[in-house]
Amino acid sequence: MPLQYGLHEMSIAAAVLDAVRAETRLHGGARATRAGLRIGELSGVEPESLRFCLESLVAGDDLEPLAFDIETRPWTRRCLDCGAEFRVVEYNTACSGCGSAHTEAAGGDEMELSYLELEEPGCASRSNEKS
Ligand SMILES: [Zn+2]
Repeated sequence: MPLQYGLHEMSIAAAVLDAVRAETRLHGGARATRAGLRIGELSGVEPESLRFCLESLVAGDDLEPLAFDIETRPWTRRCLDCGAEFRVVEYNTACSGCGSAHTEAAGGDEMELSYLELEEPGCASRSNEKS
């Protein structure tokens, strides 16, 4: 169902841009130049689809030209018996080191803004003028 799928990413993209705007307001109207996003493979978000949505929302917006770095994170769990952290393969959540079934979530459901590069208004040297 590509339409619903796209809507999901589109609403996330809109929330990301809201967060970016809130952050630039906190910095007195600084301009955001690059945003880093961390997306876990359990989050249900398709990174390329999210990038497409972000870029379409930013096009023609006052946030343009904001660039995005999307980092994907694997589904990982931590073993409560041996302490190993391992990547879950084919839904097998048992420890890949000792085989224990006592494991806890360690990562993979991330969906967050990992960083934001801002250009402060006072030292913005970019100009539209070309002499
Ligand atoms: Zn283990």
